[in-house]
Amino acid sequence: MATLTATPKRVARRLLASSFVTALATPHGVDRYLELVNPAWSVDDVRARVTDVRHLTDDTVTLTLRPNGNWRGFRAGQFVRFGVEIDGARRTRCFSPASSACRRDGRIEITAKVNPAGEVTRYLKEHARPGLVVTMSQAEGEFALPAERPQRLLLISGGSGITPVMSMLRTLCDEGHTGEVTFLHYNQTADQAPYQEELAALRSNRNVRVLRVYTEAGDGELSGRFSREHLLAAEPRYATAETYLCGPPSLTCAVEDLYRAQGVEERLHTERFTLAAPAAPASPAASGQLSFARSGAVAANDGRSLLEQAEAAGLTPEYGCRMGICFTCTTPKRSGAVRNLLTGELSDEPDEDIQLCVNAPCGDVTLDI
Ligand SMILES: Cc1cc2nc3c(=O)[nH]c(=O)nc-3n(C[C@H](O)[C@H](O)[C@H](O)COP(=O)(O)OP(=O)(O)OC[C@H]3O[C@@H](n4cnc5c(N)ncnc54)[C@H](O)[C@@H]3O)c2cc1C
Repeated sequence: MATLTATPKRVARRLLASSFVTALATPHGVDRYLELVNPAWSVDDVRARVTDVRHLTDDTVTLTLRPNGNWRGFRAGQFVRFGVEIDGARRTRCFSPASSACRRDGRIEITAKVNPAGEVTRYLKEHARPGLVVTMSQAEGEFALPAERPQRLLLISGGSGITPVMSMLRTLCDEGHTGEVTFLHYNQTADQAPYQEELAALRSNRNVRVLRVYTEAGDGELSGRFSREHLLAAEPRYATAETYLCGPPSLTCAVEDLYRAQGVEERLHTERFTLAAPAAPASPAASGQLSFARSGAVAANDGRSLLEQAEAAGLTPEYGCRMGICFTCTTPKRSGAVRNLLTGELSDEPDEDIQLCVNAPCGDVTLDI
């Protein structure tokens, strides 16, 4: 495997980014030639090589990644858009690194929960091996530990939502943070919950409390579903703690309702991996026709998002988060009006870029797919 040490790497990157080399590489681009030597090399893009694959539970896969020199690091809690080639097509999904943001070797770790109906997580579970090269965006998102670490923190997660708060906990421990940190994690069963041994070991930090709750099977410190009693048992002074929450809609909604009822919602910071409900259900009141100009497909508008209607018409547009945050599904709209399902905003400009996952047609719409 070709490798370069730090200083020659910087010089090589400057040289490769020069207009002279760019002109020489036209029309293919410099990256096309670099990839022939090492698929993880790129002038501007972040790429990462998988260095380790672990299966902490039956339905998860944990990858350790070594990003190339274009990676600028992340704040604990943020996510990356992660791309992997499957059957010749690049598929992009969001993943929140679970590793410490100050890990000495610069590597990051992602843990993906396998969705049995999903494309990328199933592929990673079955096929990811050390040596696989993937693409990544720079880290994104506002769900992150603030630069000034709060003196009292409550981290609440459920299921796969453990990843961003695990990163926060690991980062705080690596930094030697002395404030109080409570980690409250929900899972259906103990054997489905990753990071159990590490969480048990982190309890030896005097300022860290770990409470695990298994809603179906397993001995945790608490039992049942999230409630005010759980909150009081975990952190009686939650009203003065900064709370970071990530999990399935049933958990995030329950915590949000309780914080709102107590008037302390400004203390709560929430990350979501999916929308609580479909962006828009099919509706008999929807009208007009959806035309896909490049493929020639047409469909009667049924009111759902453009992404769902395109998929129902047999098309396979690229998407990432399916909830409006990653912009992977952004597509040119040639004509017609669409309504943003999150904001209600109407938009009828011709030839504009729109996100397929959170826009629905209002009448006739033509898309450039
Ligand atoms: C900010 C953020 C951070 C995240 N971090 C993590 C993380 O750390 N760990 C983790 O496990 N997950 C994380 N996720 C979720 C992750 O991005 C993926 O959505 C999830 O892993 C499923 O991906 P998949 O490719 O396996 O499933 P997909 O192939 O995307 O399928 C997911 C669902 O989409 C629907 N769908 C897919 N294709 C179609 C179709 N053709 N027609 C109709 N419906 C369809 C189905 O309901 C399916 O069950 C995060 C998401 C976000 C937004």
